[in-house]
Amino acid sequence: MPDGLLEPLVPIANPDKATLNNPVAETPQILRASLGETARARVSDVQQFQSLWRDPELKAVWDSVEQRIKDSNGQIVQPSGKWDRDYDVLLKELAEAEKSQTDERQREEEEAERAKVQSGEGGWQKVLEQYGQRNVPGVRVAEEQDGMSLAVALIRAGAVFLVKGVSESGGPISTWEVSSKTEGRALTKLEIAILDCLANRPRKWDLAFLLDMISSYGDIKHTPCAKCNRLTDNGAQLPTLRRLSQNQPSAATEPRIYSFDALHSGCA
Ligand SMILES: [Zn+2]
Repeated sequence: MPDGLLEPLVPIANPDKATLNNPVAETPQILRASLGETARARVSDVQQFQSLWRDPELKAVWDSVEQRIKDSNGQIVQPSGKWDRDYDVLLKELAEAEKSQTDERQREEEEAERAKVQSGEGGWQKVLEQYGQRNVPGVRVAEEQDGMSLAVALIRAGAVFLVKGVSESGGPISTWEVSSKTEGRALTKLEIAILDCLANRPRKWDLAFLLDMISSYGDIKHTPCAKCNRLTDNGAQLPTLRRLSQNQPSAATEPRIYSFDALHSGCA
C-alpha cells in the first residue's frame, strides 16, 4: 500500500525508474492528479480484496476451516497440511503410561501374593520349613523362643542376624525386621553394610524373599561384583549391595527361590 501510494513520486526521486506508464510529472498539477488517481486505485484494491474475502464462495471455505478447528479441539491445521507433532514427546508419554500400567500390575500381583501367603496354611512356618529343606550352604536358621523371630547365621561371614516378625493388632505378620544378633562387640563395616541393604529391600512382608536375600551373603568373601567382576573395589570393599537378578522364576513356582546379583555400592 504505502509503496503504491507513492508511486508517482518514484521517477522524480529516481529518474532512472521513469517508465512510459509512470513518467516524471511535468507540472505540479499533473503530479497532484496522478497522486489522487493512485490513491483512489489503492482504495479500490482494498475494497476488492474485502469483497473477495466476504464472497459467498469463500464463506464455504472459512466455514469448513472453522469446523475443522472445532473438531480438533482448537488445534489449528498447520500450513503444511500435516499435523505437526513432536513424536519424541508422544513416545515418551506412551512409555510413561505403559510403565505406570506395569507398576500398577506388579503392585496388584504382589498384593495378591501377600494375601495368599498371609491366609495360606502353615503361614511363615511353612516358608521356614521349605527353606530348611533346601539345605542352603553356609546358612543356619533357628526359631527363637518367642515364636515370632528367627536367628539367621551366616557361618562363613561370621555374622548372626535376628529376623523379627511384626504384626499389627494380632493380625498376620506384615513386616520382617532385621537386626544384628551380635552381642559384646561393635558391628563390623560388613555387617552394617549388609543390614543397610536388607533394610532397603522390597517385599518386607515376604519371609521367603528375605531368607533368600540373606542367603545371597552366605559366601560374600568369594562373590564377585556382577558389574565389574571384581571381589573388592578401589576402597577394598566387598560387593555388599544386592539387586534382584533379571531372570526370576514365576510367582507360580513352588517354592519360589529368588536370586540376587552382588554389587559394589559404586557399581550400582
Ligand atoms: Zn563392582
